Amino acid sequence: DFINPRLPSWLKSPIPTSPSYHALKRDLRGLNLHTVCEEARCPNIADCWGGNDRAAATATIMLMGDSCTRACRFCSVKTSRSPAPLDPNEPLHTAQAIRKWGLGYVVLTSVDRDDLPDGGAAHFASTISNIKNTAPHILVEALTGDFAGNLDNVKTVAASGLDVYAHNIETVENLTPSVRDRRASFNQSLQVLYFAKSVQKNLITKTSIMLGLGETDDEIIHALNELRKNDVDVVTFGQYMRPTKRHMKVIEYIAPDKFDYWKEKALEMGFLYVASGPLVRSSYKAGEAFIENVLK
Ligand code: SF4
Ligand code: SF4
Repeated sequence: DFINPRLPSWLKSPIPTSPSYHALKRDLRGLNLHTVCEEARCPNIADCWGGNDRAAATATIMLMGDSCTRACRFCSVKTSRSPAPLDPNEPLHTAQAIRKWGLGYVVLTSVDRDDLPDGGAAHFASTISNIKNTAPHILVEALTGDFAGNLDNVKTVAASGLDVYAHNIETVENLTPSVRDRRASFNQSLQVLYFAKSVQKNLITKTSIMLGLGETDDEIIHALNELRKNDVDVVTFGQYMRPTKRHMKVIEYIAPDKFDYWKEKALEMGFLYVASGPLVRSSYKAGEAFIENVLK
């Protein structure tokens, strides 16, 4: 049965106060850079922007507009069959702004663009190579869609010089058809992740799972096993939060200790690092985690 408890106390977010957070916010002014962190009012902004070390600070940038060709049942991004054309200057402008801003780890993500012949892969790749050309010290993660299973497009991004290739499976296999857009599938997503790593062996691959959609523990274990079989290095777990009443209901608010349990379990299963917590999103403190677990 559907349970709709009042929002539990652990989902209340802290107020950002650290000096690093304020410095990044100040320096962002005038750069014309649209961060998902600010625009989606992400509750993790204090953690991601607020460490003492700017080289480990993480922000997420959205490319290719604000209208998606898909309609996943958990997502608040607006849907359009024919989103606006790409801005050809976006890759260079984004790279220049990121270099000026001076943070250490950037996550580039986008809406899905099934309307474009290459799904936007070349645009993604161009943004990445522009960042690496102008500021090679900046670590880059791309969080892409599944490119409708077109592996040439995955290759374009995977070979562009990035450090982490992320693609979210979002949920367990059994719930995929009712949670994600009908063009997505669990196996197609696994193939994307597997193939990205096969293009570039030293790439870190990463995925994210939302909890609270009615998945069972066995289904989560199955998903984790499949991810390991496909060489996926990193997994994150967060609570599904319903954006509006038109979106899927939350079936369960998972307690923080259960998130700790999944972190332990995933580490036991061989994942390189794991972020897990009610407010965790796939880019949560990604810079810090990469520096601690890959570079050291
Ligand atoms: Fe930004 Fe992602 Fe961190 Fe949220 S979790 S503040 S979107 S980098
Ligand atoms: Fe949202 Fe991504 Fe699904 Fe588009 S493909 S509706 S942006 S989750």
